[in-house]
Amino acid sequence: MTQAIAQLAAILTAALFIFALNYMNDPKTARHGVTAGVLGMAVAILATWAQPGIVHHVWILGAIAAGFLVGVPLSLVPLTAVPQRTALSHAFGGLAAGLVGVAEYYLWLREPAQFTPFRTAALVVEVILGFLTFTGSLMAAGKLQEIKWIPQRPVTYPGQNFVNLGVLGAAGVLGVLLVLHPTAPSAPTIFPIIAGLALLFGVFLIIPIGGADMPTVISILNSYAGLSAVAMGFVLNSSLLVVAGALDGSSGLILSIIMCRAMNRSFANVLFGAFGTVQKVAATGEQKVWKQETVEGAAQLLEQARLVVIIPGYGMAVAQAQHKVRELYDALTKRDITVKFAIHPVAGRMPGHMNVLLAEANIPYTALAEMDEVNPEMPQCDVALVIGANDVVNPAARYAKGSPIYGMPIIDADKAKTVLAIKRSKNPGFAGIDNELYVQDNTWMLFGDAKTVIGDLVKQFAAGGLH
Ligand code: NAP
Repeated sequence: MTQAIAQLAAILTAALFIFALNYMNDPKTARHGVTAGVLGMAVAILATWAQPGIVHHVWILGAIAAGFLVGVPLSLVPLTAVPQRTALSHAFGGLAAGLVGVAEYYLWLREPAQFTPFRTAALVVEVILGFLTFTGSLMAAGKLQEIKWIPQRPVTYPGQNFVNLGVLGAAGVLGVLLVLHPTAPSAPTIFPIIAGLALLFGVFLIIPIGGADMPTVISILNSYAGLSAVAMGFVLNSSLLVVAGALDGSSGLILSIIMCRAMNRSFANVLFGAFGTVQKVAATGEQKVWKQETVEGAAQLLEQARLVVIIPGYGMAVAQAQHKVRELYDALTKRDITVKFAIHPVAGRMPGHMNVLLAEANIPYTALAEMDEVNPEMPQCDVALVIGANDVVNPAARYAKGSPIYGMPIIDADKAKTVLAIKRSKNPGFAGIDNELYVQDNTWMLFGDAKTVIGDLVKQFAAGGLH
């Protein structure tokens, strides 16, 4: 009877997880996705708890309480901290998988018949992936949180890939030895070495990667955590864990592929490319002029426009300017000006970053346009208003072969009749390169914090000086 209930619960949970992922495809249904995921997890926990043979209920209650204690504060972090929050969740997932593997290993030592080659191999994979995800995700979270003693820039040294792959390779070789001779007298010594090497590899993996590449790396670590859960499913004979881990692993992998494509980068380039290393820029001799516009002048340009395309980027997120942007949207649409938001797939620092911020400010979904949809309209656009976006509007991506963003699809802001760009300084964006858009003939800069500048623009419209 309990077996039948467990199987039913497993099917229900797997279905709920699949629905959760499907609902996440659309901002309108994303909240249902969260509900389905939570419900699936609750069913899985209760069904497991109801299994016969569980004697220490107090430990389970303690673990649930500890989960709440950590989970509730984590759920309260601001949106800009979601990438590092996600990394912490993966770190916990990886640690859990690794620790279950350790516990199983020592339990099996008492019952050596459990060490079938397949299950022992699954155990080794679980422990390696679990522990490397743990330290790798902690390092990734630390880089994103800009913790002082973890360098943001990629740290590289000669022979680094050799050292890194050597550490992983050594863990792999010891793992094979363990699978071949699981009960050999040296096996209990080899096992902790494998775990230690995996922990070390997680740190080494992240050191050469720049802080700004972390969202993609976190997504890759997500798939490692999923694969480690799949392996754990084989170790524990739990089909539910295999299914849940496979969903987790594949969705993480798909997300990393989407992010890499949108940046025109390969996995290898993200993991080994040391993107974000300070590069010496050769002086060109030609000094381009940055032209500045006043808030009054910018408001007049906007008021005379028929089509305004707003291009938000990371700077809008940092400034938390989305609510002011909503006020500007209202002021413009009230004057019968068509306003569209051009959304680049990797604007900001996590997938969907701009969509979430604009939704938070209740900007209608219908005003949002994907890059491919809006680009053909850019030559008809009267004003392209760039708010804290840089790399995603850099025309160098089209032709500058040596540039780190070469080949990345961009929003064609430069093709608009006039460009107004808001940023605080002449500093480059994430890729560390200059952007000729800002010194183009038809571009006017509005230097300052995005929230302040947009707020001033809104005041101009509200003051009634403009009709
Ligand atoms: P970006 O290239 O990083 O540029 C952001 C701009 O915002 C900067 O030029 C900065 O200039 C400005 N800024 C910062 N704070 C500001 C503030 N308070 N007010 C006004 N402006 C401010 O951003 P992006 O154009 O959104 O491009 C995203 C980049 O991140 C891409 O290169 C992408 O490949 C990368 N990336 C994205 C993801 C993702 O999933 N979205 C993942 C990994 C990497 P100042 O300092 O002069 O103000």
